[in-house]
Amino acid sequence: MSSSVTGGFGRNAFNEATMRECLPKNVFQSLKRTLDGEQPLDPATADVIANAMKDWAIAKGATHFCHWFQPMTGLTAEKHDAFISPTKDGRTIMEFSGKELTQGEPDASSFPSGGLRATFEARGYTAWDCTSPVFVREDGKNITLYIPSAFCSYTGEALDKKTPLLRSMDALSRQAVRVLRALGTTNVKRVIATMGPEQEYFLIDQAFCAKRLDLVLAGRTLFGAKPPRGQELEDHYFGSLHERVANFMNDVNNELWKLGVTAKTQHNEVAPAQYELAPVFTTVNVAADHNQLTMDTMQKVARRHGFVCLLHEKPFAGVNGSGKHNNWSMATDTGANLLDPGATPHDNMVFLVMLCAVIRAVDKYATLLRASVANAGNDHRLGANEAPPAIVSVFLGDQLTDIFEQLAKGGAKNSKAGGQLKLGVSTLPNLPKDSTDRNRTSPFAFTGNKFEFRMVGSSQSISGPSFTLNTIVAETLSEIADELERNGDVKATAQKILQDIATKHARIVFNGDNYCEEWTAEAARRGLPNIRSAVEAIKTIPSKENVALFTKHAVLTENELKARTDILLEVYSRQINVEALTMLTMARRQILPACCEHSAKLAQAVTAVAAAGIKADTQKALLARVCDGITALEAGIEALDQARTKAAETKGHEHQAEGYRNDVVPAMQALRTVADELETVVDAKLWPLPTYAEMLFIR
Ligand code: ADP
Ligand code: MG
Repeated sequence: MSSSVTGGFGRNAFNEATMRECLPKNVFQSLKRTLDGEQPLDPATADVIANAMKDWAIAKGATHFCHWFQPMTGLTAEKHDAFISPTKDGRTIMEFSGKELTQGEPDASSFPSGGLRATFEARGYTAWDCTSPVFVREDGKNITLYIPSAFCSYTGEALDKKTPLLRSMDALSRQAVRVLRALGTTNVKRVIATMGPEQEYFLIDQAFCAKRLDLVLAGRTLFGAKPPRGQELEDHYFGSLHERVANFMNDVNNELWKLGVTAKTQHNEVAPAQYELAPVFTTVNVAADHNQLTMDTMQKVARRHGFVCLLHEKPFAGVNGSGKHNNWSMATDTGANLLDPGATPHDNMVFLVMLCAVIRAVDKYATLLRASVANAGNDHRLGANEAPPAIVSVFLGDQLTDIFEQLAKGGAKNSKAGGQLKLGVSTLPNLPKDSTDRNRTSPFAFTGNKFEFRMVGSSQSISGPSFTLNTIVAETLSEIADELERNGDVKATAQKILQDIATKHARIVFNGDNYCEEWTAEAARRGLPNIRSAVEAIKTIPSKENVALFTKHAVLTENELKARTDILLEVYSRQINVEALTMLTMARRQILPACCEHSAKLAQAVTAVAAAGIKADTQKALLARVCDGITALEAGIEALDQARTKAAETKGHEHQAEGYRNDVVPAMQALRTVADELETVVDAKLWPLPTYAEMLFIR
């Protein structure tokens, strides 16, 4: 497709251009009104659209359709139905109705619901999300029409990641439009949250992966001694692409482009065998769907190239983990980016109000934001000696910090300019210098005309952090709108609001190194929360304040919020349980036997050398060391076994997750330490697992 990237782009997506081509004009216009949130879709229109979609999909070889949704597993779900419909005379025709397009009825009983429904109440519904284009996907010979859908219970409660995201987009739009109106911008009907998620991942040769039960079952290495070389040479970041990796990337891009996913940027990341892919930003709802497609496509295409694509937050200890950088902003339906500072931000009132609304939201709901990225994998990144830390703070940079400080004093009068960079070489151009440097360590950084939320885990759906961000900003915007609407003198009121926010929330702004210990102490002095574990973070979700927030903006009901909290805790426990059981299996059945074999060989050496009449003290010392290791290993296995059994038997989601966090995780770490040390002394030929050096450097 390389010569015709533009021609082939989106050819498997039923996007607006295709719809305009395939649908009768009045039907297309009616659908447009639905897309713009002006009217619901009527059944007759749905029938026409379904029929056109079916013809389009069949022309591409599709035989099936599916509602594609995002249950609380964080992954996607699909159940395929053939278009076929038997006729009385024993033949079949291809059919697809408006009802089949707009509504599905999957059995919901086996998806996590957090107690929102009992297992015997099996019914669940999926509803077409017409704001995200349907697409045709080719999996081997199977070609299917995919319909992005929301998923809810029989009683209408959201059982998925998409529904709250869509609700939060509405909430944000409502409040942002109110603020814009109050500030005198009256032609904006909708404000749209935009998102460009940068996705990090590892690629490992399939052959190594197949020999590691931990990678197969848990997606990360649970054992593995530090290799002689890690990322210290800093030569992988932005390095030249390995051909095999480049071929993989090329294949991924082509697959994604077909689906209308705007894969744009690709490069080597910091850790060896780590890479990144970023799309061009779009509305956050479509970005969330596209990110799921991206993760899925990368994993499938990796297999084609003999790789395994690891999306876990920390596949390898000792080198950087993987995150997602969620670049987020707000755009009007008239095409303006509300976080674009313009040339003179100090007198751009709309920008200043939007900026301050975000700052206030992040400070006020820092704990909730932290909780929105909490999972077992991310515990290895956040606050664990790796940027970003678990402390939420906002990077504004020189120019905006200066303006923010001016606001606190009563009003901003000027903006620091960027100027020019002269490189001192006549043949090189002078570069316009940005008004602000970057800060790689900040968890929530302003990067020119958007915020970059860097705490998101690489395996996570971006929906959770996104609906959280949308909702907390909607809340601060609603407070601002209330005040602006209440008071006559809008300009003076706005100045007062800005001054108020710049004074009260200065503590959340931090432009320094988020990595260093001084910041941890400074953040504590400022009263900023530092929540180090996922369990601690998740527990805070159903607080009174958060229930009030989500219900006020109709994003989640109290029941839905509580159910989600339970699911997150349960998923945490299950994940650690799988990791612990996997460790026990590997330690007992692979590592321990290898160590015993090694000790037997040493024992033979001791006897043989002594029989030959030579002192075997060194051999004896080596044997003693291995035997001590074996004893420690067995003790570690027993300790982990007991801790895991106790946690597994603990009742209550919260208590159980705490058990896993406080008892099982340390026991896993202790066992790993012993095993990793043994790896450094046991005969390489006997060691049953591919090493870090092999996995990270051989491709
Ligand atoms: P960086 O240099 O920080 O790695 P880029 O400037 O290439 O990143 O942008 C990173 C991501 O931010 C891309 O996906 C890009 O499309 C996205 N992005 C740019 N502008 C916006 C915006 N207004 N809203 C949301 N995302 C945006
Ligand atoms: Mg970036």
